[in-house]
Amino acid sequence: EIKEKYSDAILFFRLGDFYEMFFEDAKLVSRELELTLTGKSCGLEERVPMCGVPFHSSSSYIARLINNGHKVAVCEQVEDPSLAKGLVKREVVRIVTPGTVTDTEMLDDKKNNYLVSIIKQGKEFGIAYIDISTGEFCSTIIVDGESGLINEMAKIKPSEIIASEKQKDESIFKDIRKIFNVFVSFVCDKDFTEGISGISHHIKISKELMENKLSLRASTALLSYVSNTQKSAISHIESIKWYFVCDYMSLDYTAIKNLELTKTIRGGNRKGTLIWVLDKTKTSMGARKLQNWMERPLVNVDSINNRLDAVGELKDKFIERNKIMELLQKVYDIERLAGKLSIGNANSRDLISLKNSFNQLPKIKEILRDLKSSMISNISENIDKLEDVVNLIESSIADEPPVTIKDGGIIKDGFNKQVDKLRKATKDGKKWIATFEGKEREATGIKNLKIGFNKIFGYYIEVTKSNYKLVPETYVRKQTLANCERYITKDLKEIEDTILGAEDKLIDLEYNLFLEIRDNVASEIKRIKRTSENIAILDVLCSFAEVAQRMNYVKPEMSKDGILDIKDGRHPVVEKVIDENSFVPNDTYLDTDDNRLSVITGPNMAGKSTYMRQVALIVLMAQMGSFVSAREAKIGVVDKIFTRIGASDDLALGQSTFMVEMNEVANIIDNATKNSLIILDEIGRGTSTYDGLSIAWSVVEHIANKSKIGARTLFATHYHELTELEGKVDGVKNYCITVEKNGEDIIFLRKIVRGGADESYGICVAKLSGIPDSIIKRAKDILKNLETEEVKRIQRKLKIPIIEGQVDLFSINRKENKIEQDIINELKVMDVMGLTPVDALNLIYKLQQKANQCN
Ligand code: ADP
Repeated sequence: EIKEKYSDAILFFRLGDFYEMFFEDAKLVSRELELTLTGKSCGLEERVPMCGVPFHSSSSYIARLINNGHKVAVCEQVEDPSLAKGLVKREVVRIVTPGTVTDTEMLDDKKNNYLVSIIKQGKEFGIAYIDISTGEFCSTIIVDGESGLINEMAKIKPSEIIASEKQKDESIFKDIRKIFNVFVSFVCDKDFTEGISGISHHIKISKELMENKLSLRASTALLSYVSNTQKSAISHIESIKWYFVCDYMSLDYTAIKNLELTKTIRGGNRKGTLIWVLDKTKTSMGARKLQNWMERPLVNVDSINNRLDAVGELKDKFIERNKIMELLQKVYDIERLAGKLSIGNANSRDLISLKNSFNQLPKIKEILRDLKSSMISNISENIDKLEDVVNLIESSIADEPPVTIKDGGIIKDGFNKQVDKLRKATKDGKKWIATFEGKEREATGIKNLKIGFNKIFGYYIEVTKSNYKLVPETYVRKQTLANCERYITKDLKEIEDTILGAEDKLIDLEYNLFLEIRDNVASEIKRIKRTSENIAILDVLCSFAEVAQRMNYVKPEMSKDGILDIKDGRHPVVEKVIDENSFVPNDTYLDTDDNRLSVITGPNMAGKSTYMRQVALIVLMAQMGSFVSAREAKIGVVDKIFTRIGASDDLALGQSTFMVEMNEVANIIDNATKNSLIILDEIGRGTSTYDGLSIAWSVVEHIANKSKIGARTLFATHYHELTELEGKVDGVKNYCITVEKNGEDIIFLRKIVRGGADESYGICVAKLSGIPDSIIKRAKDILKNLETEEVKRIQRKLKIPIIEGQVDLFSINRKENKIEQDIINELKVMDVMGLTPVDALNLIYKLQQKANQCN
């Protein structure tokens, strides 16, 4: 019956100290977890396949199944087996899915684990997401269609998505599953209602959420999924935070990936990313907060400055910062512990971790008292010392309690009179037994007589074979083993009853007291969560200050004027991975007027990508509230960052390199505004030269055009022809990254200067890469031939006599310019009104003949 109800999950059925699986579940689990498949006769003709895992180590098995994409339903005994009549009653108490994991061992400390709910209506999407382990719950509406949804998902990084079964066939869910490799569960459409209050009365719902029906529907479905899977209180979810996507800088999926914020493109590692450089947080809450700030940089200058001022103060106050960081080191993951508290999962060690963490709070507040910036004062005000909670735990819970909460040893001496009394009784009883052993040895003359204990027989007296004859008559034999016999006596039995009775009572009492204490602590959850939130923020600010000092970052000057003026900017990651002091800093100047778009040329490996990414990263760091890797930086706030970098086939989505590239460009054209920052690393390379050049040319014209986009843009290209845009298109300026030629070789100077590059040096760079000399030499010959052929082709077209050995592309250009000039001059001087229609036709014919001479 239970399996029928949870047919889409693997049923972990509790049997004593094991969780057992049956039938198909057993076969699947034994295969996936390499467990022995056994069988059980269940009154059927054939034995039923069965396999099991020990209860105490079940979480690692569950984690593996979840990682493999399964759902697990945990079915427990819900009545005391000693009191049960017949079969012990069982119920599913929890369903574990990737998005509903709460076991801290199964979660990554530094990352949130989000479960997302999505509902589509026309082009809009209502979304809501929750991290059950922390209680964070947010909701918003996406108005810009599927691309907007994918961008938001790139920030949230969901572990699991729920959607309505009615929308099962929408292609967007297939795309999301592929892009993010995420588990999508389809639930009953009825769950997506607006009746959120029917599910939970205690959750605060803002006016905006009430007004955005689509978000409300997503939130309702999410809440009901959580309460169905958790089957326990969702009391730690206090409110649903409503946000507008545009409250933050928009970073699309491609930008997050290309700028390598949290994962490198190759290998998906943390090392080599921006977060790897910036994260010096001491707590897991801080690490998660930092990632959140990184993916949601601010756009409001005052809010950014607020963070920057706090970082500045912490940077200057070295001693205070160090002390705070030392104290933060001793703070556990309060946020997740609070989550465990409210789900009723916290054990006594968790309470001790909370106490030890809270013990640092008064010391932290004391240091913060001397700091002046408004953000830090605010943090200090919002950190509650929680002394009452500390006192409660300190007085009640043993300093080093056991992991389990059902075996006693939790409550401290002196906290509860009854506990003390029962403990004394067991202690006295054990003392009596120790004395009894000595006395009996003396009385019987059996030197190796021993008192032992086991769960089945209780206390017994053990006598070895050679001493049987010395056993007194008062001893009652209970058990015979190969080399010894075990006995009991009346006195021993009586004392055993006292000890075991007291022990049982003690365990029960300690367990109940623990639950009471835990409930008391849990009732302060609001104060605890507010404190943990502020500790996390303080941790991030300290981390920024620490990195700023170590890496020599400066405070950026923020403005709304659209000017980006960076002096001696450095790429924060590259400068850390290459040899010390060998990074060559570079300036950047972009504005919304004459310097909107920089066309950057230079050979491969010159440093174009590094330079462009560095600009994007500096802007992003500034808007997160971090100091930046430059000597000086003025940052006119950016609303969105777009990147088109490198070539990559998205085979999973069935798109070729060129298609991916064009999609990315289309997305930029659709969504960029005059306040955006666009990084374009090559456009049009996946097709023929002339096609590519034409596309690149017209894209630049469009982006630079103030009436169309006019965004600040860095555009690196191999098409030297594009340098002609300077002077022709407003706002375009040429830059190149310098190299020096040394005979056959080139030396990279890595310095960006005004002007276009003269050559592409492709073969020189190829030579550096270790391609054999013979191939390089052959490439040079081919290049020479191609150039000669190209000139001949043009000369033939223009009917210019071909003189062997003469290769002068520039003379051709000059000739074309002359023809154009002739035509213009003729047009300028002609007397239109004085021409007869026939003259006019003749003139047009003549001009066309001339024009045909050009390419
Ligand atoms: P391009 O895009 O022009 O092909 P990259 O930006 O990929 O070149 O740079 C190639 C390599 O040069 C980088 O991996 C980095 O190691 C080095 N590099 C780039 N810029 C600098 C710089 N400013 N200072 C020192 N090394 C740099």
